[in-house]
Amino acid sequence: MHKDLVAALDIGGTKIAGALVDGGGRIRLRSRLPTPAHEDAETVMAAVATVLGELSRSPLWARARAIGIGSAGPVDASAGTVSPVNVPAWRDFPLVSRVALAAGGLPVVLVGDGVAMTAAEHWRGAARGCRNALCMVVSTGVGGGLVIDGRPHPGPTGNAGHIGHISVDLDGDLCPCGGRGCVERIASGPNIARRALEHGWLPGPDGDVSAAAVAAAARAGDPIAVASFERAAQALAAGIAATATLVEIETAVIGGGVAGAGEVLFAPLRRSLRDYATLSFVRGLTVAPALTGADAGLLGAAATASRIARNTGSARTVGRC
Ligand SMILES: [Zn+2]
Repeated sequence: MHKDLVAALDIGGTKIAGALVDGGGRIRLRSRLPTPAHEDAETVMAAVATVLGELSRSPLWARARAIGIGSAGPVDASAGTVSPVNVPAWRDFPLVSRVALAAGGLPVVLVGDGVAMTAAEHWRGAARGCRNALCMVVSTGVGGGLVIDGRPHPGPTGNAGHIGHISVDLDGDLCPCGGRGCVERIASGPNIARRALEHGWLPGPDGDVSAAAVAAAARAGDPIAVASFERAAQALAAGIAATATLVEIETAVIGGGVAGAGEVLFAPLRRSLRDYATLSFVRGLTVAPALTGADAGLLGAAATASRIARNTGSARTVGRC
């Protein structure tokens, strides 16, 4: 049993990554192609099939017991379909059945990328050993997922925990999702940069107007850059506190490029949490940076596949919680 592997696919708007992963979370083989995001549906699927084909030509493939897919959302895990915002040709695309066909009938399981990142952090990262946690990716967008009662909780369609699109500002700006005042509309990298520029922040001589550049300016003491990160931290804190109050999470794990800002984000986030997480049962809430980095999608897809492959033991770990 310990020699069993699972196959993992991480499908996003820029890359399609595949891997064979063992029960200890070690990636034994990788494959990767850029996503032909603006091509037709079959061209995108052909890229997925090529990635799978590279894996299946390995002698290791014979040990694969299941395939896990983490995909940019929205996904519908109950229908086996995906409609990634950044891949316009895929709308209700039947990814699960197509992957099953391409992979010779192994069982296939699909989750959204936020849920996949959560499964990865619960298996091998900062939420290891946690009974109840919220894991978030804060980058171009804001996504997330939940661990409840010691297990990732994908929800019926694989999207549960999508904290980026809960409102923390009732009369706030319209969000591309159709809502108003969403966490993502305030805390994503592009929105941190936009707000800093709108308030008069001037980029350096290289003209870099990314959130990372705003973070560097904040680290150097630029008050407008600091304020933009404080506002993002406030939105994240309100969303995290609401989640903790609803389902009693013990920790919030935050990954993604914006989390790379480090204390520029985490210090005001911890301060703001004290303003919003006020009830006795949420005051002990902690926040921690994610640990699984760029492999979060693959590891999370693998963790999810391990569960259906009944690779017992792989997701049972003792950790910080
Ligand atoms: Zn929204």
